[in-house]
Amino acid sequence: MFLFVKNLWWVLREKTLTVSSGKRIFISQRNGILVRTPSRSIALDPKRASNCEYTFVSHAHIDHVHTPNGKSKLVASKETAALAKARGYDLESSEEDASGVRLFDAGHILGSKALLIEDSVFYTGDYSSRDRGFLKGSKGIKCDTLIMETTYGDPKYVFRDAPEIVSLVSRIIAESFDKCRPVVLTGYALGKAQMITYLFRGWAPIYLHDAVYKMNEAHIELGVDIPRFESYSENRLERRPWIVVAPSMTGRSAFIKSLREKYNALVVTFTGWAIDPNYKYAMGVDYAFDLSDHCDFNELVELAKYCNPSKIYTVHGYASEFADHLRYLGFDADPLDNKGQSTLSSYV
Ligand SMILES: [Zn+2]
Repeated sequence: MFLFVKNLWWVLREKTLTVSSGKRIFISQRNGILVRTPSRSIALDPKRASNCEYTFVSHAHIDHVHTPNGKSKLVASKETAALAKARGYDLESSEEDASGVRLFDAGHILGSKALLIEDSVFYTGDYSSRDRGFLKGSKGIKCDTLIMETTYGDPKYVFRDAPEIVSLVSRIIAESFDKCRPVVLTGYALGKAQMITYLFRGWAPIYLHDAVYKMNEAHIELGVDIPRFESYSENRLERRPWIVVAPSMTGRSAFIKSLREKYNALVVTFTGWAIDPNYKYAMGVDYAFDLSDHCDFNELVELAKYCNPSKIYTVHGYASEFADHLRYLGFDADPLDNKGQSTLSSYV
C-alpha cells in the first residue's frame, strides 16, 4: 500500500509532454532527473543507483556521480569515468554510445557531456558556453524539449572573460611577489583547480595541494596540456614567494590559517559566486574572482534561444526566477520541481 501511494505521488508529479514526433515523454525530478519515453527510461545524474534502462552521468563532480548497482547501462564519457575513478567511483562499465541517445560536449569540466534523448529532449547537465583555457565552450543544439541547468539564472551573474581575470590576478601576484609574499589560489579541486593551474602556469614556483595534485595528474594522463607541478611540502614553502593551488576552502580552514600565520600568504579564490559583494567576506579570503565553469545569466538566455525548444524545464540554482524570465521572453518554461530556488552552494 505504501509503495502504491509513493508511486502514485511520483506519477502525479511527472511532467507529461508530446514532442514533435508525436511521442509522449514523462519527466520528473526523482533521484536526479527521470525521463521515460515509450522506448526506454533514463536516469540523469542520479544520486543513488538506478534501475532505469540507462543511467547518464554528465560529469565527475561529486554531486553528479554515484555508486552503480549493475542493473542499469551506464552512459558517460571516458574522461568522466577516469576522473570518477580517481575520486573513488567505479564507472568503468560506462559507454559513450547507447541506442536512442547522443552525447554532446557541455564545456563545464574535462569530459562533461550533455545528452540528447531520441532526438527530442536535450539535458545540459552543468554547462558552459564560454571558451577558457584548455576547455571549449558549447553552444547547444536545436531540440523539442530543453532541460537546462540555471545555477546562475539571475541577471546579476554576468562574468568577465578569463583573460581579463588572469590579467587582474597576475597584477595582484606581481605586487605580492615584490613584497616576497606568497599567494594561495583556490577553486574546486576538480575542474577549477586545473584551470587555475593552466591559466597561471607561467608563474614560478607553483606547488599543489594534494587533492589538486591528484586531479591534475588525472588530467595530464588524459592528455590535457598542463605542466606537472609538485605537491607542496613545508620544506618547499620555506623559500618565498610561491604560489600554492588549493581546493576551495574558507579562510577559517586549518590549511589556509596555517599558510597565513606562517607565511603571511594572500588568498585568492575563483567562482561565479564572487559576483556577490559579500562572498569574499563570507569565505574569509582576500580576493574573489568570477571565473566560472557555468553559463552566466546572458549565456543561459543565449543557450535557450539557440536550442529554440517548444518546452524548457529549468533545474538548479535560480530555476524559478529564470523560468519566469524565459516566459517573459516568450518561451514555454517551468522549473522542473515547481519549488523554485534550491540550495545554491551544492552546485559545482
Ligand atoms: Zn559540476
